[in-house]
Amino acid sequence: MEQSEHEVLIAGTGPVGLIAALAFADAGFRTALVGPKASASDGRTTAIMEPAVRHLESLGMGPFLEEHGEPLKTMRIVDATSRLVRSPTVTFRAAEIDLPAFGLNIANSELNAALETAAVARPNVARHEALVERWHPREDRVAARLANGSELVARLVVAADGRSSPARIAAGIEVDARPTGQTAIVLTFSHTRPHSGISTEFHTESGPVTQVPLGGGRSSLVWVVKSQDASELLALDRTALATRVERRMRSMLGRVTVETDPQAYPLSTSQPRRYADRRIALIGEAAHVFPPIGAQGLNLGIRDVESLVAVASRHRADPGASAALSDYEIRRRPDVAMRANAVNLLNRSLLSDLLPAQLARSTVFEALRAFSPMRAFFMHEGMRPGNGLRSMFSFKTKDRRAGDRT
Ligand SMILES: Cc1cc2nc3c(=O)[nH]c(=O)nc-3n(C[C@H](O)[C@H](O)[C@H](O)COP(=O)(O)OP(=O)(O)OC[C@H]3O[C@@H](n4cnc5c(N)ncnc54)[C@H](O)[C@@H]3O)c2cc1C
Repeated sequence: MEQSEHEVLIAGTGPVGLIAALAFADAGFRTALVGPKASASDGRTTAIMEPAVRHLESLGMGPFLEEHGEPLKTMRIVDATSRLVRSPTVTFRAAEIDLPAFGLNIANSELNAALETAAVARPNVARHEALVERWHPREDRVAARLANGSELVARLVVAADGRSSPARIAAGIEVDARPTGQTAIVLTFSHTRPHSGISTEFHTESGPVTQVPLGGGRSSLVWVVKSQDASELLALDRTALATRVERRMRSMLGRVTVETDPQAYPLSTSQPRRYADRRIALIGEAAHVFPPIGAQGLNLGIRDVESLVAVASRHRADPGASAALSDYEIRRRPDVAMRANAVNLLNRSLLSDLLPAQLARSTVFEALRAFSPMRAFFMHEGMRPGNGLRSMFSFKTKDRRAGDRT
């Protein structure tokens, strides 16, 4: 059978695979993009932080983001537990770090459709609407057999094929994966009071309940519950569900009307032992899965793409060579490990009834509430690794310069 040859083969057409297709194509790689048609039924929205927004703008997605994204100006964390030790409310304002907004909130179905349209319009992207059925990693190339019978070969395979990643299995990479026992219920609702660009994350004993602003007087909700309680919420009709959402949100946004049928996402954590092997590099949820706290997942996936494209461009002659893969591993490991550990720790502290966990959480939140340089550090660092230290340095330099003038 005839094989079609590419420099890069991207497996997976979730947001991360689609963004990778745009980025590799724009860096001049002959790219194959393999996977089913991008999902139109994903009811989630994604908060895309400012550095990731800028990356998407560089890939030509600026006009789409401007039209469809709702700015996130303020992020508030409220302890809604009924525990003995409760944390103070912490409010992060983008204006505090001289930004108009932390980022934009966008419906996944719209984002995926726009990314797919942009990817297929790139002349150096060959789109194959099929699943990869079998992988054959070899010394100098990887061959992929698709469900439609085609066969492709590439020097570098980009595994963007999600949390159970068949490409990761073909690379022989094991993961430490476990369910958290929680399920995220996702829906969109309209409300009678304006959200004013504020996202509120209520911390409860079963996980976070996060409202994120959307356009047109609407918000999205990610309501994390213990998995055994999910079916009860999913069985409610929209009116009964609206009453529960309104109560959970403490009527902060007035009367609530649920606009979409709720969807359920069972939560888990997963970290791979390696990020690349046998010419296959992991990105997105193939490389890291953790609960949706602090809008980290896709933002981390976009940084995977940035790093992998930079590494492949430096190893242009053979982007799948072992030196390139080691380079990628070194770049990604600290960022992914730090985010995953922080999110998992915070999630565990919510689920834990132990007093020391509550005390530790409340001490950190009190420091964040009271100490604006620490808040600024967290805001910068939350958006991009290294930004926190850079901002502290420039803050001190600015202070010193101001001091010199007085
Ligand atoms: C409730 C919830 C809310 C979230 N909110 C945010 C947020 O606000 N901000 C944020 O940054 N992140 C958020 N995340 C995380 C974010 O959604 C994920 O990081 C992101 O969707 C991962 O995208 P992906 O492309 O890696 O994987 P997926 O979207 O899972 O895509 C994987 C793709 O691979 C394809 N595939 C599978 N097998 C094969 C095969 N054999 N051949 C070819 N293709 C294959 C699948 O069909 C699919 O298209 C949230 C997650 C959840 C659960």
